[in-house]
Amino acid sequence: MSLPISKFAQSVGGSTVVGMRRRADVLAASGVDIIDFGVGEPDFDVPSPIKEAAISAIRDNRSHYVDPCGLLELRERIAQHESDQQGQMVDANQIVVSPGTLGALSLITRAVLNPGDEVLVIEPRWGPYRNLVTLTGATPVGVPMRTQDGRFIVDVERLASAMTKRTRAIILNSPWNPTGRVLSLEELGAVAELAEHHNLWIISDEVYSKIVFSGAEHISIASLGASVAKRTVIATSLSKSFAMTGWRLGYCVAPPELAAVLGRLNHYSTRCASSIVQHAAIVALREGAPFIDDMRQEYSRRRDVIAAGLNAIEGVLCPIPEGAFYAFPQIPDSWGGSEALANHLLEESGLVVTPGSAYGSSSHNHIRLSFAASMPAIQEGLVRLQNALPVQNNQNQ
Ligand code: PLP
Repeated sequence: MSLPISKFAQSVGGSTVVGMRRRADVLAASGVDIIDFGVGEPDFDVPSPIKEAAISAIRDNRSHYVDPCGLLELRERIAQHESDQQGQMVDANQIVVSPGTLGALSLITRAVLNPGDEVLVIEPRWGPYRNLVTLTGATPVGVPMRTQDGRFIVDVERLASAMTKRTRAIILNSPWNPTGRVLSLEELGAVAELAEHHNLWIISDEVYSKIVFSGAEHISIASLGASVAKRTVIATSLSKSFAMTGWRLGYCVAPPELAAVLGRLNHYSTRCASSIVQHAAIVALREGAPFIDDMRQEYSRRRDVIAAGLNAIEGVLCPIPEGAFYAFPQIPDSWGGSEALANHLLEESGLVVTPGSAYGSSSHNHIRLSFAASMPAIQEGLVRLQNALPVQNNQNQ
């Protein structure tokens, strides 16, 4: 007799990005030269002072459990950093240190949702949001953004019409994976007003807040005023800003009563984020600003090259990414959809891209290309892409 697996766990599907990566690894093992525009993580090394701080923490035996909310010195530093970003006072008792943004989102969704609740998830959306909500017994309700000249824009009227008596929360992500949008003050203000009107939690994923290009500005929705901050929980991390994806260091910023709950949940989830990494994170926040500036400038150069290269392909429309490190071009209907294109590019050209369908049905005619890849890889990838098109003709050969 087979042993049962929970229905929530069974409802969780695998990640498209991981699936594409595994297929690419198999091809690479058979000698195919892979160019990877799928991966969503910086290709930079962790800056030396942060590495040295982790090594010192190990040597100094800072290897014990710490408070489930995180080291006080780190929380104070994060609180200062968030106060500067939001232009209003954030206290250390509002911070809970977690294993990455995903760890933070997992705590937050479990803390604010009950089975039967609904959560507005704006599409195109980062894949895990749906699963995180489903795992609490709540229901994710996808609400497509509208498009204008290929740019995705938050449509508050659509959000309002998706609202029911069971709606409890809305998930925001700015800078936005996969669209590369950085939400404007108007868009954020309209969402904040809706959330206040319907008494919703705002779950704001700000993991790309440091990767914003000239002309755009990251605005945390919590900075729109004390009444918005009271219903906002931020999830973020050092993963993208300091190339520390594998180190797993993130945090929540929440109103104090909710932060206390998140700290208790963290205790029973992971006990605490790694003590070694927490010591290194103090140094990252204290000394890491120049690294972030250099990294942003390099992403900005790559963005210009990849967006120009994509827009030069007939039928492709790529809005200029404003933040994060993704280009999200629209492809012609005649190319058979994003999955067919992604499969074709992988098999014919060793090029990994993520099909837009992974981010919701409204983006089935888009592909996501991460430009967290070196400039030579971007240039070579664009040549391979151009040579592999048009898909229909090549597939019919
Ligand atoms: N949120 C978004 C929108 C992401 O794109 C990612 C990673 O790709 C994460 C969160 C995960 O970040 P972390 O490494 O901090 O868990």
